[in-house]
Amino acid sequence: MELAKAYSHKEIEGKWYRHWVASGAFAPAGGTASYFSMVIPPPNVTGSLHMGHALNNTLQDVLCRYKRMDGFCVLWVPGTDHAGIATQNVVERRLAEQGLTRTQVGRAAFIERVWAWKEEAGNAILHQLKALGISCDWRHERFTMDEGLSHAVREAFVRLWEDGLLYRAERLINWCPRCKTALADIEVVHEESDGQLWHIRYPLADDPSQALIVATTRPETMLGDTAVAVHPEDARYHKFAGKKIRLPIAGRVIPLLADSYVDKEFGTGALKITPGHDFNDFEIGERSGLDKISIFDADAKIDAGAFLARGERGEWIERYRGQDRFAARKLIVAELKEKGYLEKTEPYRNAVGHCYRCQTIVEPYLTPQWFVAIKPLAEPAMQVVREGRVRIIPEGWSNSYFAWMENIKDWCISRQIWWGHQIPAWYCKSCNAADLVEAGGGEYLIGKKAHPIVARSAPESCPKCGGKELVQDPDVLDTWFSSSLWPFSTLGWPEKTIDLKSFYPTSTLVTGFDILFFWVARMIMMGLKFMDDVPFRDVYIHALVRDEQGQKMSKSKGNVIDPLDIMNQYGTDAFRFTLAAMAAMGRDIRLAEERIAGYQNFVNKLWNAARFVQLNLADADRSHEVASRLLLGQKFNFADRWIRARLAATIAEAREAIDAYRFNDYANVLYQFTWHEFCDWYIEMSKLALNGHDAIQAAQSRKLLRDLLDQILLLLHPIMPFVTEEIWQALGESRPSIMVQRYPRFDPAWADDAIEKQMEFLIGVVRAIRNLRSEMNCPPGKQVKAIFRGSEQELALLRAQEPYLRSLARVGSAEYSSGDDRPEGVATAVVGTTEISLPLGDLVNLEEERARLTKEIRKFEEEFARVQKKLTNSDFIGKAKEEVVQKEREKAGQYEEKIRTLNLSLARIEESRAERS
Ligand SMILES: [Zn+2]
Ligand SMILES: [Zn+2]
Repeated sequence: MELAKAYSHKEIEGKWYRHWVASGAFAPAGGTASYFSMVIPPPNVTGSLHMGHALNNTLQDVLCRYKRMDGFCVLWVPGTDHAGIATQNVVERRLAEQGLTRTQVGRAAFIERVWAWKEEAGNAILHQLKALGISCDWRHERFTMDEGLSHAVREAFVRLWEDGLLYRAERLINWCPRCKTALADIEVVHEESDGQLWHIRYPLADDPSQALIVATTRPETMLGDTAVAVHPEDARYHKFAGKKIRLPIAGRVIPLLADSYVDKEFGTGALKITPGHDFNDFEIGERSGLDKISIFDADAKIDAGAFLARGERGEWIERYRGQDRFAARKLIVAELKEKGYLEKTEPYRNAVGHCYRCQTIVEPYLTPQWFVAIKPLAEPAMQVVREGRVRIIPEGWSNSYFAWMENIKDWCISRQIWWGHQIPAWYCKSCNAADLVEAGGGEYLIGKKAHPIVARSAPESCPKCGGKELVQDPDVLDTWFSSSLWPFSTLGWPEKTIDLKSFYPTSTLVTGFDILFFWVARMIMMGLKFMDDVPFRDVYIHALVRDEQGQKMSKSKGNVIDPLDIMNQYGTDAFRFTLAAMAAMGRDIRLAEERIAGYQNFVNKLWNAARFVQLNLADADRSHEVASRLLLGQKFNFADRWIRARLAATIAEAREAIDAYRFNDYANVLYQFTWHEFCDWYIEMSKLALNGHDAIQAAQSRKLLRDLLDQILLLLHPIMPFVTEEIWQALGESRPSIMVQRYPRFDPAWADDAIEKQMEFLIGVVRAIRNLRSEMNCPPGKQVKAIFRGSEQELALLRAQEPYLRSLARVGSAEYSSGDDRPEGVATAVVGTTEISLPLGDLVNLEEERARLTKEIRKFEEEFARVQKKLTNSDFIGKAKEEVVQKEREKAGQYEEKIRTLNLSLARIEESRAERS
C-alpha cells in the first residue's frame, strides 16, 4: 500500500479505531504478565467533552498504550457517573418545557424519564471520548447506577452501618433551596460579595432603656435567635452578667452568654446566636444547650408553622409567614428602623456560599441527614500516603491532602433528590407513627427520631413489632458515595471476582486536582475500608488547560476551545501530541492553536519521512539486496552508527520520562529525535549511501532507514496512535497492529558516546559553514572552497567525512592544513579547535557585501549607544530592578560582540578588495 501524498486524518482515524475495537486490541491480554490497570474518572452522563477530559484521557491512554506494548496485561475500565443533581436538573428542565414539575410526574415516573434520557443522550460523552482514540476495554464499561454497582453501593452502606460508621441525625447542613437538597461542604462555592452590616439594639428584658448592640449581615435570621453572646473577658459587658434580653419583633426572652469564641473586635463584641442558621452559632448552641429554631422551610421562606409549634404567638408571625429570606430581610430591617432598633448600617464585604450546581445562595439548614463518621476512615487514609503506599504526584499535593484530611468533618451523604441510589433504610410505620409524615405521592417526611432498619434488601416486616407496613427512606446517596467505590465496584466487588484479584489495587489514577477531595481521598478511605488495600499506587494530578493568555476557559468569557473542533481541524494525533507536550508537571497548560498547528506539521513531517523511506524501499534492487544480506550489519557507516547511538539514547530518555509521568519530556524527546536528528540529519546523510555506487552500503542504509522508522513509530504510538498505525500498516505487508508490538528497549550495543561526540563536531562544522554562507549572503546552491586548520584528530575526521561536507554544506573542495599560514580574504569560524576559512571571493560580490556590512555596523552601533546611555543614567540604575539592569548589560555586550565580528568581516572584505585591485 503506497502512502498518499498528504496525510488525511479524517479518513484514517475512524477506520483504525473500529479496527482496534473489532479485533479486541483493547482487552487485557497476556495473562501471565504483570498487571497494569486504571479506572477512568467517570465523566457525568450529562457531560460533553471539554479540554479537561481531553487532557485527562489522553494522558491515561498514553500510559495504557505504552504499558500494553511493554508487555503488561492492561485493563482500563471506562464508564460514566449518574451525577445525581446535575442529571436531575437536566430532566427537570425538559419537564419544565412541557409545563410539568417532577412532583406532578411522581417519583417512579420521573426516574423512568431520567433513565430514558440517559439511554438517549447520556452516552454522548463516551462517543466523544472514543474520537480521542482512547483504548479502554469497552466490554468492561460500567455505570454508577447499573445493577452491579448498585449492589456494591447497598453492600457498602450496610457494612458501614453495621460497623457503626453511619448515623442519622439532625444537623445543620448546607441546603440549596433551589435544588432542595443537602450539599456537602465541598459542594459549596464561596464567593466574596458586597453586603451590609446592620447594627441592632437588643434591649435588656428588665430594663428596656439599656441595650446591647449586635452587628449582623443577616438580620432576617434574628427571628431564630436563642441567645446573645459576648467574650468572657470583655469588660464592656461585665455589668450585664446574668441579664436577659428581649428579642426585638419576636419578643422572646433570651439569655446573655459568655463564650470565648466571640471576637471582641467584630462589631460591638456582642454576637446574636442563631443555632438554626449559622454553623458557628450551632456549635455555641451545642455547648450551651440552646434551642435550635429553624425559621425557614425547605424553600427558604419563613416557616410560620415552626413558631406556632413552639407555642410562640403574635401577629408578627402572620406578617412574615411565607416571605422569602431576602424579602424577609427588607421587611425586618424596615420594621427595626421604624421601631427604633436599628442603630446604623455600614457596607461590609464577606464570603457567601453558593450551590455548586445552580449558584443559588446556600442556606445553613437544620434537617435530619445521614452521615459517615469519617475520622476512623481518614486516619488510615492519611497513613498510606505518609508511608508512600499511595504516591501523590506531583508531591506538593500531598500537603493539601493532609491539610484537608486533618480537618475533615463527618460526610453528609443523604440528598433530597430522586435520581440516585435510594438509601437502603426502612421505617416501621407503627413504631415511628409520630415521626412519619405523609408528603403526598407515597412519599414520607422522616422525623429526626425515627428508627431506621438498614438492610441489603427491603425487609418483610419490622423486627421489633412484626409490622408489615414499612416505608423506605426517600433520600438518595451523594453521587460521590458510589464513585468512591469505583476502583473495586467496577471490578465486581462485593463478589470475589478474578478481575478483582488480578487488577486491584489499580496501578495509576490520572485526575485533576479539583476532585482530589471529592473523589480521590474518598476512594482511598473506601478502598482501605472494604478491600483492606489502597485503590491505586500512584495518583498523577494534572494541571488545568487554560487559554493562550492563561485565563480559565469559560462560556461567559467566550474563550472555550472545543476539543472536537480541534480534532476535526488538525487531527487527533496533533491534538494529543500538543496536550502531552505541554503537560509539564504542576504547570497549567496555556493552549494556543499555533502550537497545535505546529504539531500538525510534525505529523506531516513524519508522514513525509515515511514516504521517503517507502519510496527508497520500492526502488531497491532486489538482487543486490539478497546478495548483500550476508554482509548487512558489517558495514554501518558513520551516519548509521551515529543515528543508532542517538536512537538508543532516545529510547532510554523516553522510557525514563514516561515512567516518571513527565509526559512533556517524553513528547519532546521524541519530537527532537524524529524531526531534528532523523529527518534533518540522518535522512539527508543517508542519501549519499542510497545514491552511491556501493550496493551493500545502499542496502544497509535502506534496511536501517526502515528499522529506524519502525522504532520511531513504536516510540510515538502511545501519543499518536492513528498516524503511526497507518504508516506501520503501509510499510509492512499485513503485519499485526502496532498496538500489539513490543515497545523499544534500550540496546547498550547501540550506544556510542564517541560517535555522538564526532557527529556533534561535524554538525557544528556544517552549521558554521552554513552560517558563514548566510552571513555573507552566499546563494544556497553555490559551491565554495573550505580551508580547515586544526588538530590532527579533527582534521582526520573531517577528511574522512568530507562527502557529508560536500552534500550538507556545499563544500566544493576542501584543504586541510596544520601549519600557521593564514589565508587572506576569508570568512572564518571556529568549531572545536578547528578554524574554518571560506575565501570571500567564492562567496559573494565584494562591493555589495561591503555596503551591507557598513549598514549593519551602523545599526548595531546605534543600538549599542542607546543601551549605553541607559546604563550611564544614574536614574535608571538606581530605580530599575537588578535583573533589568543585568539584561541591559548583556545586551550591550552582545551588541559590542556583533560590532566586533562585523568589523572583522568588513576588514576581510577590504583586504580582498585591496588584493584584487
Ligand atoms: Zn442548587
Ligand atoms: Zn415496628
